[in-house]
Amino acid sequence: AFNFNAGPAALPLEVLEQAQQQFVEYQGAGMSIMEMSHRSELYEQVNNETQALFREIYGIPDNYHVLLLQGGASTQFATIPMNFLTPDKVGAYVMTGAWAEKAIKEAKLVGETAVAATSEAHKFNRIPALSDIQLPDQAAYLHITTNETIGGTQFAEFPQTGNVPLIADMSSDILSRPVDVSQFGLIYAGAQKNLGPSGVTVVIVRDDLVKESPKTIPAIFRYDTHVKAGSLYNTPPSFSVYMVNLVLKWIKARGGVAQINQYNRDKTKLIYDTIDQSGGFYYGFAAPESRSLMNITFRLQDAELEKKFIKQSEAEGFVGLKGHRDVGGLRASTYNAVPLESCKALAEFMAEFQKNNG
Ligand code: PLP
Repeated sequence: AFNFNAGPAALPLEVLEQAQQQFVEYQGAGMSIMEMSHRSELYEQVNNETQALFREIYGIPDNYHVLLLQGGASTQFATIPMNFLTPDKVGAYVMTGAWAEKAIKEAKLVGETAVAATSEAHKFNRIPALSDIQLPDQAAYLHITTNETIGGTQFAEFPQTGNVPLIADMSSDILSRPVDVSQFGLIYAGAQKNLGPSGVTVVIVRDDLVKESPKTIPAIFRYDTHVKAGSLYNTPPSFSVYMVNLVLKWIKARGGVAQINQYNRDKTKLIYDTIDQSGGFYYGFAAPESRSLMNITFRLQDAELEKKFIKQSEAEGFVGLKGHRDVGGLRASTYNAVPLESCKALAEFMAEFQKNNG
């Protein structure tokens, strides 16, 4: 299938095949990795190697920790304010759409929050200008959603926040392009778009920040608990971590994040160009300067034709093109593992569909 699902999303075929080979027996252990103690030497190797690969591929400085946790990105929405939003401080959020809204909603249960910038007036079809971001006094952190999966918008550059930690939900664009990790206090991402299967959440956090959590937070929600335990405080999502390990090796073998980024640009250009050259038959939801390289959101002028498009595309093997119910229309998610061939096939299908229905 041409898999354009928004998440869980496509995995590299090579990775699935490799996992299939090792599924029943992992490295001569006489059992699957799923059946192994997370305290065993073999699993500890997977845990440590996965963290090391992350460091290498993403250029993560030594004063950051890489954690492989359970609970999804949604748990981080709550854990971040629990750890950093003390009563004398304000959690600042850039409102870019549905996921930023979910993040601030959790923070409001913990303490004081502020909207540092918003594109709500534009129905979240763009990322606010960085120059419009206003940090409140006593900001505990500034939270951004680097890629809004539903609206299909993406930060092209990140705000400079001085001493205020920049915290980023990168669930839908982690490892899709090079970033300067040292610009961030904390980066988090659910795995199920660019990293592997669901079940594991990556947290990359600067060392000085993990030391400040209030003593009243339960152990499981404290970053320092997981740091001290080398990310093995409780039973980790071991099979998902193993899959992330394979995906990281796949990225490395393809030349790293810069090459992946170029590939993503080539892929998405095929589809954005088809939209732009359609003379209005298709139109994009996101403002051009905020277009995402991960989720392409677009519509057809005619609602009936949109339904026909979805039905016909499904019949031709395209999966996941129906847009999210909040935005409607169509969405093609073009995460790292989606091959260029799928994007080419979609661009051709779109042109053909226009020819027959335009
Ligand atoms: N943040 C973003 C940007 C997302 O796209 C998603 C979607 O899955 C989430 C957070 C929620 O992640 P999870 O389902 O892992 O809690």
